[in-house]
Amino acid sequence: VYPFTEVVSQEREQQELKDTLLSLQPMVKEHPEESFLDFVSHYLGAAEALRILKATGYDALQLPIVTAAMAYDIIKKHPETQNCTENAGNEWRYATDGYGQLLVQLQRQAQAAGVEFRLEHRLLSVEKSGADHLLAFSHHGEVQMQRARHVILAVPPTAMAGLNLDFPSAWSPFQYDSLPLFKGFLTFEKSWFECMGLTDKMLMSSNPLRKIYFKSDKYLLFYTDSQSALYWRDSVEQGEEIYLERVRRHLEEALPLNGKPLPPIQSHFYKHWPHGVEFYLEPEAKHPAALVHPSGI
Ligand SMILES: Cc1cc2nc3c(=O)[nH]c(=O)nc-3n(C[C@H](O)[C@H](O)[C@H](O)COP(=O)(O)OP(=O)(O)OC[C@H]3O[C@@H](n4cnc5c(N)ncnc54)[C@H](O)[C@@H]3O)c2cc1C
Repeated sequence: VYPFTEVVSQEREQQELKDTLLSLQPMVKEHPEESFLDFVSHYLGAAEALRILKATGYDALQLPIVTAAMAYDIIKKHPETQNCTENAGNEWRYATDGYGQLLVQLQRQAQAAGVEFRLEHRLLSVEKSGADHLLAFSHHGEVQMQRARHVILAVPPTAMAGLNLDFPSAWSPFQYDSLPLFKGFLTFEKSWFECMGLTDKMLMSSNPLRKIYFKSDKYLLFYTDSQSALYWRDSVEQGEEIYLERVRRHLEEALPLNGKPLPPIQSHFYKHWPHGVEFYLEPEAKHPAALVHPSGI
């Protein structure tokens, strides 16, 4: 069972978030076009609304494109925030040793059914060539060509826009956008968070760490989106020392350390996804499951 459905500390903010969501829910239908932030501001004022929204741990919920109905749906369907909704108590399951094995098994099954995989090939362009398509790939610095009668692309919008396929205008009436994500992982010389009752729990913070997860006695992870993800991207760009100094400072602010310094960090790594979540911009309209190029490219 996935552990991170219980938020510790900041009980006051969590309870306020829960009470606010519950009390405003009946009015959501009256504000179909309004952003979640405007919707909550309408009833609580801008400053209070921002404070309450921060308690969700997701910066994206403050974006103008996220309507109140979308926000309620997102909050209900994320393990860290479901507690504030009727979904409290939902159990999540996950692959405890990671998803690598699942991918290996799926690949084996597909291979047994005759699928050929060519990994580490980056698609550069697609040209129409008679009834076929001519695909150019880069593979370990070499350009390779491939002829195909039919082409199915499972490529996200930002990557599609980088190809020579006139995406999105030739494909779709929709506009697309994306949000950055950033995760930082830290290990420590001593397992100190166990005795603070934080093992397999998570903590929301209003500082740029936003959501802090304590995985068994193994590691600490913080997970951020949008403006907080950009803050961490900028921090790592300024060098490891500045990044780690900020991590330490914000952890000391967020954790109940009783004025003690953060125990020494043993090792760390991070990952930044410039386009971690991609989406279309007219959420009220239904997007087709697949887009077909009208001229067959
Ligand atoms: C940290 C993180 C957490 C997330 N959490 C959630 C979550 O909790 N819930 C949720 O619903 N979603 C979540 N998402 C979003 C989710 O991962 C994506 O929506 C989903 O993976 C999109 O699937 P996809 O197949 O469209 O694209 P991808 O999974 O991005 O796959 C596209 C593939 O195409 C490849 N590719 C791109 N361009 C080319 C090219 N030119 N040539 C060859 N290959 C190319 C890429 O390398 C990639 O392997 C998360 C994303 C991140 C990064």
